[in-house]
Amino acid sequence: MAAPTDRPTTRPPKQEQEDAVAEVTEVAPGILRLQLPIKISGLGHVNCYALEDADGFTLVDPGMPGPANWKALLDRLGRAGAGIGHVHGVVVTHSHPDHFGGAGKVRVESGARVITSTSFRTWFDPATEGDDVVEEPGAAGDAAARAAEERDERPPPLPKFTGRETPWGGKHPTPPLSFRVKMKLLGPLRRRWMVPPRPSVRLADAETIVLGGREWVAVHTPGHTSDHLCLYDPTEGVLLAGDHVLPTITPHIAGHTPRAGGDEAVPGDPLADFFDSLDKVTALEGVTTVLPAHGHPFSDLAGRADAIKVHHRERLDLLRAASDGLGEATVEELSHELFRPRSWGPMADSETYAHLEHLRLAGEVECRRVDGLLRYRRVS
Ligand SMILES: [Zn+2]
Ligand SMILES: [Zn+2]
Repeated sequence: MAAPTDRPTTRPPKQEQEDAVAEVTEVAPGILRLQLPIKISGLGHVNCYALEDADGFTLVDPGMPGPANWKALLDRLGRAGAGIGHVHGVVVTHSHPDHFGGAGKVRVESGARVITSTSFRTWFDPATEGDDVVEEPGAAGDAAARAAEERDERPPPLPKFTGRETPWGGKHPTPPLSFRVKMKLLGPLRRRWMVPPRPSVRLADAETIVLGGREWVAVHTPGHTSDHLCLYDPTEGVLLAGDHVLPTITPHIAGHTPRAGGDEAVPGDPLADFFDSLDKVTALEGVTTVLPAHGHPFSDLAGRADAIKVHHRERLDLLRAASDGLGEATVEELSHELFRPRSWGPMADSETYAHLEHLRLAGEVECRRVDGLLRYRRVS
């Protein structure tokens, strides 16, 4: 998922909105881009990167759950001269459905191990699913994957969204409507397609792992989500960026996610986390190829990270001005000053809350709760 799109219609279409193409391209030596179709939050595709080694492929972000994605994935693998049985690893960069949704099915069908950051968790974390996990026969290697899962230490389960209020008292962002409708339509087939991606390997920050014949360094990049993972190959300067740095849209910053590390008692500042994570990747030496989860590869990581920071600083300025204009106001009221009406809703509120909390922790605004809703005002 990405930001609620908030662009004037006069601007050219964003790269991330382009429809998926069937053609498979090699974007770096031994790294193929398989584009998979998605239709959420103004995105037209997700890039699934296939890292090739002598034993087969590791897939990074194998798309949405469901038959359409699966069909596209098999088609793209076929174009690369491979089948699902050639897949022995899946990397999930973060807990959004266009990234993790297809991973569980790939694991079941291929026996591939699932690789995430240590803090990865979804809104239906496997820890809360128990016996709902579908165990179908997989290829050789499945036993090893399951054995690895046994050793897996999962973080605490994600709180249920349904019926739970946000910290600011508004409606909780839920999975995108299109995703929920699709899950409902799948009905009894849902469990076959929506297999929770139980991680086999959870990478700590700076931990290394060999995938596709390259040694990658795990780079924890909380901000877009608290569990976001980038992978960096310092030898050839390749960064698998997930949704952390996208070429032409600004990643959504969710205010409701617990802070990295999972302590919900500690007030989080996802925007500060995001800025830190942008600084972290721009400090990596020798990045020449950035492979984003949406849009095309690019090289100017520092320039793009700077532009994204400028966007958020402008948003903070807008928020200061909106707060001055409205006086004490709720998150939703302030959100309506920041976003166009078509973007109004829980996602926009969540991002506004992230910005307000950033200002509050900097001592620029204060808030109090009135009738269950947080109300913010500028500190004079
Ligand atoms: Zn995404
Ligand atoms: Zn995302």
